[in-house]
Amino acid sequence: MIIKAALFLLVAVSVLAILGRVRLPGMRREARFCPDCGRPRIGKDPCECKRVRR
Ligand SMILES: [Zn+2]
Repeated sequence: MIIKAALFLLVAVSVLAILGRVRLPGMRREARFCPDCGRPRIGKDPCECKRVRR
């Protein structure tokens, strides 16, 4: 019984770790940092540096 509980906890932790790894790159993709100035873009608008310089 105790072994089953331990195995279940291990599986649950590993699944959470995998989900965390999958989520992190997704979050980075949504952030989308500007390649020019490195600032994170806000929403769908282009970066502020491009707006000013055109
Ligand atoms: Zn920029």
